[in-house]
Amino acid sequence: MSDAPPPASRLATIGPTTRLECGICWTVYDPAAGDEVWQIPPGTPFADLPPHWTCPNCSAEKKSFLVLDD
Ligand SMILES: [Zn+2]
Repeated sequence: MSDAPPPASRLATIGPTTRLECGICWTVYDPAAGDEVWQIPPGTPFADLPPHWTCPNCSAEKKSFLVLDD
């Protein structure tokens, strides 16, 4: 009962299927779809994107992306 993460740690819990949304233009990165612009194959977790990856729409850095709740 005590292992549920507090809300403040939610941003650190990016799993292999976690979708993230660009905080600038609201483009969504979906690991199941990958990224055609960057030639990222489907099934690539956000955490496994290359360090130089940026938003395919507005070039925002990864730190600008926000975890999406389903
Ligand atoms: Zn963007």
